[in-house]
Amino acid sequence: MPPRRPADLKPLPVPGGKAEPAPEPEKPAVPSACLATFAERGGIALPSPSENGGGACAIDDPVTFRNIAMADGHKVELDSAVTVSCAFALEVLGWLRDDLPGIMGAENGKLTGLVGVGGHACRPRNGMAGAPISEHATGNALDLSGLRLQDGRIVTLAGRDDATRPLRESLQKSACARFTTVLGAGSDSSHKDHLHLDMRKRPRGFKICQWTVE
Ligand SMILES: [Zn+2]
Repeated sequence: MPPRRPADLKPLPVPGGKAEPAPEPEKPAVPSACLATFAERGGIALPSPSENGGGACAIDDPVTFRNIAMADGHKVELDSAVTVSCAFALEVLGWLRDDLPGIMGAENGKLTGLVGVGGHACRPRNGMAGAPISEHATGNALDLSGLRLQDGRIVTLAGRDDATRPLRESLQKSACARFTTVLGAGSDSSHKDHLHLDMRKRPRGFKICQWTVE
């Protein structure tokens, strides 16, 4: 038996006076503070796709997700996974988790899904060649066409519907308060059937809220 190693044995000094640092164990990439917040707030991140546009279409700190756990534990599922910048994802999370439950609850509904969802797309605005690059290109925008409720109903955001108008008016108010761009029915022909939300920065905090609820 070798002699017992004293408990207070220090590592031997090495030339240069510094103790040999312990070899770092192989560790996974550290998630950003934003991604940690995303997870804490109920966001369920998926492995990000390797293609990230690049160049003008690169996303800063991207996150891909399809499900969000709400404060009461139930999940809201997007009908397709989206990849957006983490900072933008936090705004979407905030809207879904903090703003929508009160609105949906007032209408006797519980949100369980988003329908007609679109996120990252490397393209000029409205898909027109020569137009400025879209906020979708940098993962700073989300499209959606409807909300799925727990009872199976789908609230279509565009179009004329007396039954859902009060709900959609509340949605418009909350979306325009949170996002810096809201384009829906009544804004232009490319947004007549869906809602576009983004966090585009403009001088003096100027916002665009163009969604006619009928
Ligand atoms: Zn859009």
